[in-house]
Amino acid sequence: MDKEQNARVDGAEYMIEVDGLVKRYGQKYAVDDISFRVKRGEVVGFLGPNGAGKSTTINVITGFLSSTAGTVRVDGHDVLEEPTAAKRLIGYLPEQPPLYVDMTVDEYLNFAYELKGCEYNRKKHLDEVCSVTKIADVRGRLIKNLSKGYRQRVGIAQALVGNPPLIILDEPTVGLDPKQIIEVRSLIRALGENHTVLLSTHILSEVQTVCDRIVIINKGKIIADEKKEDIVRVAEDGRAYTAKICGPSREVTAMLRSRSGVRRVERTAERDGDAHVYVIESDPGVDIRKTLFFALAQNNWPLVGLEPVGENLEDVFIKLVDRSDVKKQGRERRRPVIDNSDIERKGE
Ligand code: ADP
Ligand code: MG
Repeated sequence: MDKEQNARVDGAEYMIEVDGLVKRYGQKYAVDDISFRVKRGEVVGFLGPNGAGKSTTINVITGFLSSTAGTVRVDGHDVLEEPTAAKRLIGYLPEQPPLYVDMTVDEYLNFAYELKGCEYNRKKHLDEVCSVTKIADVRGRLIKNLSKGYRQRVGIAQALVGNPPLIILDEPTVGLDPKQIIEVRSLIRALGENHTVLLSTHILSEVQTVCDRIVIINKGKIIADEKKEDIVRVAEDGRAYTAKICGPSREVTAMLRSRSGVRRVERTAERDGDAHVYVIESDPGVDIRKTLFFALAQNNWPLVGLEPVGENLEDVFIKLVDRSDVKKQGRERRRPVIDNSDIERKGE
């Protein structure tokens, strides 16, 4: 796709600014006071379990849903105040792609072209979109006869029509087979080269392979918003090690448990020569490695191995979600109910 068409010298620093966004359905908070930003050119993963509030947030950003409170700006345009200007900048693939299955791919893309009021050379532009999304060979086919993988790419093609600088994809790989997933992910990666992308998913490996930054949402609250590498670090307080220690295991265990900063000590079934293998977890923010070394030396119990327990992003995600669930319990909500619904919708 043509980079020149995307270059905006006068654009805001942030492509998306979400501030204090609340969406309530009756008494239920689907989105509960969230704020995050997406910089121009960033590829951000919006990650959370089912029901976390991802689609609700995206539907507010794209102007398909009104909010209860808070503001959303797209490239500086408030989505309530200037919905048309905001929407023009967004290519959106909803969770359920709005495909007209009785149309051919070509008819559908032409329809999208007209709907968006595009002013590019139509043939050149649609050729380009089809080539990027690798659907050129099915342009004459009825959408209803396409595989789910092809349909999803047609959905993405529809989002690209008009060459909007911001692409928002809501769970684009749900229901695809592994090969199709790989194809769609590599397409998203390619889009990231010259678009700002917000990719919602409940699958961690998806954001891991594609995104620069991850915003994690759970039960309507943001529980992490970091660079990919930093999310791992964030979850590392309460860090665990496996330690190989020679010595009588009961005494070793008891001694370690008595030390401050040590949260948990378990002997595993594993052995290495005459050493037992333990899992030792520290309290948040405490580095127990030196304590361990001196305490064991004092007792003449050689420490013959020490390794951090490898935490992949998957473990971290589960841990962050669990932790936020615990925090939420018992917290009473006393909040004045604010409402955006009295803000008149302009410019529609
Ligand atoms: P996600 O996309 O992360 O799976 P959603 O944004 O679809 O989550 O939903 C967030 C929460 O809001 C869920 O608990 C869902 O049941 C609820 N919800 C979504 N839409 C509605 C609606 N129209 N009416 C009532 N509750 C809704
Ligand atoms: Mg959803």
